[in-house]
Amino acid sequence: MPGYEFFGDEERKELNDVIQTGILMRYGFDVPRKGIWKAKELEVAICNTFGCRYAQLVSSGTAALTAAMSALGIGYGDEVILPSFTFVASFEAVLSVGAIPVFVDVDDTLTLDPQAVRYALTSKTRCIMAVHMCGSMADLDALKAICDEHRLILLEDACQSIGGSYKGKMLGTIGDAGTFSFDFVKTITCAEGGVVMTNREDVYQSADGYSDHGHDHTGADRGSDLHPFVGYNFRISELHAAVGLAQINKLNSFLSIQRKNHSALKKILSSIPEISFRRIPDEAGDSCTFLSWFLPTEEITMAVVSEMKAKGILAGNFYWYDNNWHYIRKWDHLKNFRTLNTLHPDLKAAVIHHANKDFTASDDIMGRCVSTAISLAWTDEQVRTRGEQMVQVIRNVLSEQGVTI
Ligand SMILES: *Cc1c(COP(=O)(O)O)cnc(C)c1O
Repeated sequence: MPGYEFFGDEERKELNDVIQTGILMRYGFDVPRKGIWKAKELEVAICNTFGCRYAQLVSSGTAALTAAMSALGIGYGDEVILPSFTFVASFEAVLSVGAIPVFVDVDDTLTLDPQAVRYALTSKTRCIMAVHMCGSMADLDALKAICDEHRLILLEDACQSIGGSYKGKMLGTIGDAGTFSFDFVKTITCAEGGVVMTNREDVYQSADGYSDHGHDHTGADRGSDLHPFVGYNFRISELHAAVGLAQINKLNSFLSIQRKNHSALKKILSSIPEISFRRIPDEAGDSCTFLSWFLPTEEITMAVVSEMKAKGILAGNFYWYDNNWHYIRKWDHLKNFRTLNTLHPDLKAAVIHHANKDFTASDDIMGRCVSTAISLAWTDEQVRTRGEQMVQVIRNVLSEQGVTI
């Protein structure tokens, strides 16, 4: 998954271009910047690499989701459907535009269960946020059909799935808008950064202004820009964009290493018939940042996790069910809606209601799921050793628990 594992001379070269001029800001300073426009260059590279018409870089993936939702006109009174399994940023962004996050169960794709989405629709539903978790995709045909039928917005949170695709199109470019995060642990990194991708000019223009105090960027200089609407500052710096530019050129090699390591590890784990794997709506489009696998019961999974911990091989294996960043079960701050400032009581009541619903269907999936992060730095030997150690632990637990193997 993480591009930081391959930080090197290419990143240093791009950074040096910026340091030479000292112009660290992406807008303005046309003369002293001497033709160095790293953020602009990266936006063009993103459009070319992923096949979208427009790309607006911002300061984080969270900012990208917030800017996308604002640009799509989502706000007060609107309900946004999103999965119970996602990174907290997804709902943070919904809250930051004043909309209501409506959590819905995931299925064995680890993404939105389209049937559960249908049950959650109300007259206030405005948007479906498909989160392509752990490198692979949601069932976009099914979600798109729901959006078309009910005239809803499809927003893709592809922050964890840079380079994945669905039926030949890159994730993040299929909905009305899509986002990537370039934070330090994502497939490619800017240290901090994110992007809104879209094929809609109106959405791009709005995201562009929104992320820079509402500037329309049509003036001869910043001082003469107009402000057609209120915005914020979610700008990326030239330093961050420079790192991203070096990284995007390495994306194909990152993806091929991930795919190789992923398939080697999957082959080893497949020797255990009790293990099943995440369902992938389009196998060819998996970016392979994680290998996600299931055991038969929650009890067995917990025993395997604690045994891996005891053996010192848990690092890089994520049991999301027990993790308080990615799965609703432990989002107590949200369930009690603890905020620093007072928000509208109707919003508070709605958030508490939706965060405390029954998620047994998700629990049944997440309680049995472990995701192994695929490192770019592993040697073939290390993949084999890691896989064999995991198999050993899993076999021991299965036989202790009386599961025949
Ligand atoms: C990382 C991530 C984000 C947010 O990205 P930041 O750049 O860290 O703000 C949003 N959604 C998902 C699913 C993520 O994994």
